[in-house]
Amino acid sequence: MAQDQYDIAIVGGGIAGLSLAIQCARAGYQTIVFEKESYPKHKVCGEYISNESRSFLLDLGLPLSELDVPFIDQFVLSSHHGFVSSCRLSTGGFGLSRFELDSQLANLAQKAGAIVMTDTKALSVQGDFVAGYRIETLRQGTFRSKLLIDASGRNSALNKSNKSKITEAWIGVKYHLDAGPDSNVIEIHTFPDGYAGVSKIEANKYCFCYLTKASGLKACNSDIQLFEEKVLSKNLRLKARLKANKLVGPITTSQFYFGMKGEGGSFNEIGDALGFIPPLTGNGMSLALRSSKILFENVDELLSASIDAATFHKRCDEYMKGYLKHRVSRGVLLQNLLFLKPAALNKALMFLFSKSPWALRMMSNLAVGKTI
Ligand SMILES: Cc1cc2nc3c(=O)[nH]c(=O)nc-3n(C[C@H](O)[C@H](O)[C@H](O)COP(=O)(O)OP(=O)(O)OC[C@H]3O[C@@H](n4cnc5c(N)ncnc54)[C@H](O)[C@@H]3O)c2cc1C
Repeated sequence: MAQDQYDIAIVGGGIAGLSLAIQCARAGYQTIVFEKESYPKHKVCGEYISNESRSFLLDLGLPLSELDVPFIDQFVLSSHHGFVSSCRLSTGGFGLSRFELDSQLANLAQKAGAIVMTDTKALSVQGDFVAGYRIETLRQGTFRSKLLIDASGRNSALNKSNKSKITEAWIGVKYHLDAGPDSNVIEIHTFPDGYAGVSKIEANKYCFCYLTKASGLKACNSDIQLFEEKVLSKNLRLKARLKANKLVGPITTSQFYFGMKGEGGSFNEIGDALGFIPPLTGNGMSLALRSSKILFENVDELLSASIDAATFHKRCDEYMKGYLKHRVSRGVLLQNLLFLKPAALNKALMFLFSKSPWALRMMSNLAVGKTI
């Protein structure tokens, strides 16, 4: 039902936006989400969810036991130099496709009472918490809200300051395959200037997702198949995985960079719109969920007039510049280890991991956070 003014408008119906919408609607706030696409939709993502999010997702109502998700507690790392290492994951996780997850969250948000407007792109926003916000959308007109949250992802449509920071463009490619590793294993395979993750998701399918620097793909005339044959196949384990039947894909995404994003100004961001952690950590979705939980607590206090707008912004800023920045920087550091230069140093590190599961485990422990 269309309203004159919503309590909270959320731009972007991904993990961060939808999980925030569920919490806000459940607390009784008039909530609207603008999503430029529709559900279900395939999305480039490794589809490995850290167990740090498990109980929070259950609290949101995600029926994990009905979804037949594989639980993952083993990590295998192989390098294009031929080294293979493995270790047990202390926290572990599970595999669930974005096709399933995002549409489940959208249903839960609607059931909680939120309006989820699909095929509705937000074009621009104006205002602040005192005057209220005006959101102009493509084709669906203009909406008003007391509070506005940007959950529109790593290439935020609203925060233009993001664009200027692109230092090295990356490309992501995803497939669903009909075969892969054991159901409790996540594999990461390196290749020159990139890496691929493979693990099982629901319904006996496997997510195969890789990212690489755009320059590498360009050198193969932007031909994905050629790139996979020439570059990914340098890692023989990866070459073997690519032989499985492709059920979905290739789906691609481009023009992203890692690290903290610029500040939006008069509204607040969550999820990737705030900071993008390298997928190597398998933690982007968990950070999106965590930021929505923390933000909701502050939104609740702001909308119930327990705190003022200045305190709200100060607390959001503290989370961004403290916890989030620390996690994202650590993720960037871990990813940089895979691309150490000179190449001999990188080879030596991969050799060390192959001899010391303890070192690999220490590294994987650095990627995860406490239970949300
Ligand atoms: C190659 C790759 C692999 C990854 N693998 C993993 C992994 O294995 N595990 C993990 O935890 N994380 C992984 N991630 C990270 C994870 O995908 C993100 O961190 C997560 O999706 C962030 O959620 P979000 O809600 O902030 O953004 P998104 O999920 O990107 O949602 C943003 C939403 O906003 C919508 N939108 C954008 N602009 C507008 C607009 N103007 N109007 C309306 N809607 C708009 C988009 O359509 C989208 O649905 C990976 C990322 C990449 C690129």
